[in-house]
Amino acid sequence: MGKKLKVAWVTFACCEDSSILFVELLNDHFFEWNEKIEFRVCRMLKKAALFEDIDVAFIEGAIALKEDEEKLRHLREVSKKVVAVGSCACTGMPSAQRNYFDEKTKGEIEMVINRFGHMEKVVPLKSLVKVDYEVPGCPMDEKVFLEVLQKCFSEFGV
Ligand code: SF4
Repeated sequence: MGKKLKVAWVTFACCEDSSILFVELLNDHFFEWNEKIEFRVCRMLKKAALFEDIDVAFIEGAIALKEDEEKLRHLREVSKKVVAVGSCACTGMPSAQRNYFDEKTKGEIEMVINRFGHMEKVVPLKSLVKVDYEVPGCPMDEKVFLEVLQKCFSEFGV
């Protein structure tokens, strides 16, 4: 059996539509990717998760919680490449809408922010860790995703 790309697909604060697109892509690519990808983390496909020795982490969503910031930093440490998937991961928006609330609305959500360990602002991945590639779009641009994945196969000799 040939070498496989060790992949994590991880989702933070967002609506998860890029995950849905990814599942739809499996309709066309399942048999090819089954030969080429080892999913270390992918809650959509398997329950068990191995957060270590990851070649490429595809990360969807923005970072809104302190706990998620720690998870992201750990993921960066154990992954050779990090790909931000979708606009929320690349720019923070639209998940970061609360950053732009007026003072009155901010006051109304303050209790939730404090009680559940939210960060003061919702931020994109690159404001916390190094991001190697970005797949823009809301949801992600499938063509760019496939190009980035292909690039990763080449870089890792898969
Ligand atoms: S980028 Fe758009 S589709 Fe993707 S998670 Fe954010 S809001 Fe949802």
